[in-house]
Amino acid sequence: MKLILLGAPGAGKGTQADILSKKLGISTISTGNILRAAMKNGTPVGLRAKEYVESGKLVPDEVVIGIVQERLAEKDCAGGYILDGMPRTIPQAEALERGGIDIDCALSIEVEDAVIVERMSGRRTCPDCGASFHIKANPPKAEGICDNCGAALTIRRDDAPETVRDRLATYHAETEPLKAFYAERGKLKTVDNQPTIEATTAEIEKALGL
Ligand code: AMP
Repeated sequence: MKLILLGAPGAGKGTQADILSKKLGISTISTGNILRAAMKNGTPVGLRAKEYVESGKLVPDEVVIGIVQERLAEKDCAGGYILDGMPRTIPQAEALERGGIDIDCALSIEVEDAVIVERMSGRRTCPDCGASFHIKANPPKAEGICDNCGAALTIRRDDAPETVRDRLATYHAETEPLKAFYAERGKLKTVDNQPTIEATTAEIEKALGL
């Protein structure tokens, strides 16, 4: 299964990707997590990406395309993968096609902007392993502590309300056209956000025929 998860920032792509990757036994490639790790480690890619990521702007296509091409060439991707947060622009999707990447499905999680803004204020992220939690919908077992690795959870700088509004505007302008791109290729499936994470997972599984 080669799956692309589409949806606004905060739609739950990362959360659902984690659940699906465990269920299907395939890796998730999250460009956001890769970029944040690169920034933390001060690599050349991280230094280049920092100002874009922190201000909620898209990192230039060529940077992201390079990262994903390298990552997809790794052994664990041979049997399939879930792309979370890439492609985010038409040129990125075209680059995947040019690279011979034939995906099975682009699945869009549909959430209203007002719900996203509300939801992002409760998001907590692990700066060490990238895991994501929500204070109400998906709280960690111990408050403020990552379930996976025990690090102290933080609020992503780009989750500040004014940055979230900019990221939503970017989503509608640059990323949402990907729905038509994949619909034209007969690859688009959409699911509506549900009141709980589990209910959204159930909708996704139904859409994918799992
Ligand atoms: P995310 O964790 O998916 O919300 O991504 C966080 C930030 O990383 C985005 O706001 C962008 O600055 C950057 N980013 C992640 N994926 C991409 C992508 N495919 N294209 C451009 N920028 C990206």
